[in-house]
Amino acid sequence: MAVATRRYQNYVNGRFADPHGGKTLTVENPATGQVVSEVPDSSAEDAREAIELADKAQRSWEKRAPIERAGYLHRIAAGIRKDSEHLARVLSEEQGKPLDQARGEVNGTADYFDYTAEWARRVEGEVIPSDRPNEMELLLRQPIGVIGGIVPWNFPLYVLARKVAPALLTGNAIVVKPSEITPNSTLELGRIFDEAEVPAGVVNLVCGYGPVVGEELASNSLIGMVSVTGSIRTGSRVMELAAQNITKVSLELGGSAPVIIMPDADLDLAVRSIKACRLLNTGQVCGAADRTYVDRHVAAEFTDKLAIAMGEATYGNSLVDEGRDLGPLVSARQLEAVSGRVERAVADGGQIVVGGKRATDRPEGNFYPATVIANCRQDMAIVREEIFGPVMPVVSFHDLDEAIAWANDSIYGLASSIFTKDVNVVMRACNELRFGETYVNRENMENMQGFHAGWRKSGIGGADGKHGVLEYTRTHVVYLQYDMTAGRQ
Ligand code: NAD
Repeated sequence: MAVATRRYQNYVNGRFADPHGGKTLTVENPATGQVVSEVPDSSAEDAREAIELADKAQRSWEKRAPIERAGYLHRIAAGIRKDSEHLARVLSEEQGKPLDQARGEVNGTADYFDYTAEWARRVEGEVIPSDRPNEMELLLRQPIGVIGGIVPWNFPLYVLARKVAPALLTGNAIVVKPSEITPNSTLELGRIFDEAEVPAGVVNLVCGYGPVVGEELASNSLIGMVSVTGSIRTGSRVMELAAQNITKVSLELGGSAPVIIMPDADLDLAVRSIKACRLLNTGQVCGAADRTYVDRHVAAEFTDKLAIAMGEATYGNSLVDEGRDLGPLVSARQLEAVSGRVERAVADGGQIVVGGKRATDRPEGNFYPATVIANCRQDMAIVREEIFGPVMPVVSFHDLDEAIAWANDSIYGLASSIFTKDVNVVMRACNELRFGETYVNRENMENMQGFHAGWRKSGIGGADGKHGVLEYTRTHVVYLQYDMTAGRQ
C-alpha cells in the first residue's frame, strides 16, 4: 500500500527553500519500515550559501542587547510548547522513541530555550587588576561568529536546542545540519523560528548527508566553531577538516558508562535506576549505564533482580499502541549492530539471562527486547564498546580497586555511576573515576544546568549550564590606559 509522504524544505535566511539541485532523500518510520517524508539532500553549495547568509545576519544580531536576543529564545520556547503534541508525534514517528519520551524531549527542548534565555543578564566579563597605574584591564566575552551545528539522530530536538539556544543568546548565528535519519522534527522548527520572527539568517536548517553538508560546515573558513554531537569517527573527521582553518571544535561523542554496585548497595534502587536509563530511548543514549560491575558477593542476587525487571519491559509502536517501554531501534543498521554485538558476546562466553534475540513477532520494525548478559569479562567487546541498544552486560569484581580500574579502562569518558551507602567509597569514586560525570545512587541523566562534557574520546568542550553558554563566546582583553598625564608624573 502506498503511503502519503510529507515534503520538507530547508530553512535558510528566513525562507523555506528546496536545495539547488532539487535532490531529496527519504525518511522511514523505524516501527513500520514505511517512508514518511522526503527531505532535502542538500549539496555543499547549499551549505556554503547558508553559511554566507548567516555570516551577514550575525553582524547585526550581535549588536542587539542580550536581553532582546533572550526574548527570541522565549518566543521559540512558546512556539514549541504550542505545537508540542504535533512535534512529539513527528519525533516519535521518525526516531521510534515511545510517545511519552518524545513528549518529554519536546518539553525539554522548550525548557532549554527558556533556561538559556535566563543567562542573558549573567554572561559577564571581568575587570582584572593591572600592573600599571591608571590602567583598566577588561576581559570581554564576545560572540564567535557563525556556528556549524551537527546533530545526531538520538535526541534530534534536545541536542539542537543545546546548540541553537546558547549560540543565539551570545550573539552568534548558526547553520544546523540535522541527522539525515531524523530531520523531520528539526525541519518543523523552521516554522517556529519563522513565527518567532527570528531575524533572517540568524538560524538556518540545511538537511543532507554528513560527508557533504557536515563536511562543508567543518571546513568552511567563515565558520567560527563547529559543534558536533555524534560518533567518534565523525568527531575525528570534523577535527581533521576544522584543523585546516584552525576552527574551534566542540565535540560530544560516544560513551560507555560503567556502573559500580557495591555490596552494601540498595539493589532494588540500583535495578530501577539502571533499567530507567538503559531502556530510555531504547538504549540509544550516549550517557546511559552501559556496563555493570557488581561485587561478586551480590552478583547473583543483583543479576536475578535486573533480569526480572528488564524482562517486564514491553516494546511496540507507541503511535498506535501507547505506553510501551521500548520503541524500535532507529534503523535496520542499528538493529544489525546491536544483534551482532549480543551474538559476539555469547560467542565470547556471555550468558543471556533475558532477551538476546531480535523480536521475531514484529518483523516490520527494528525491535529488540531488553537484554541482560551475565558472566561478562573486561576483555569482551560488549564491555569495551558503546552498545546503543537495550542491552546490559554484567561483570563481577573482587574489590573497589578492581572495579575502578575496569571502569576507567575505556576509550570513553562521558558518564559513570556508583551505588553504595558508604560516603568514603563515594568520595573515592568521585576522585578516581576518570569521567566527565558521576551519578551516585541514581540513574544517569544530566540536567541542563550541569555541564555535559566527556573525557578521552568522548569529546572536547561540552554543553549545558554556565560553561556551556561560555563555550559559544570568545575572550577579548582590552588594556585601557586612561590618564596619560598622571602616568608620566
Ligand atoms: P554520527 O556520527 O553517525 O552522525 C552524527 C551527525 O554527524 C549526523 O548529522 C551525521 O550526518 C553527521 N556526519 C556523519 N559523517 C560526517 C562527516 N564526515 N562530517 C560531518 N558530519 C558528519 O552519529 P549518530 O549515529 O547520528 O549518533 C550516535 C552517536 O552520537 C553515538 O556514538 C552517541 O554516543 C553519540 N551521541 C553523543 C552525545 C553526547 O552528548 N556525548 C549525545 C548524543 C549522541
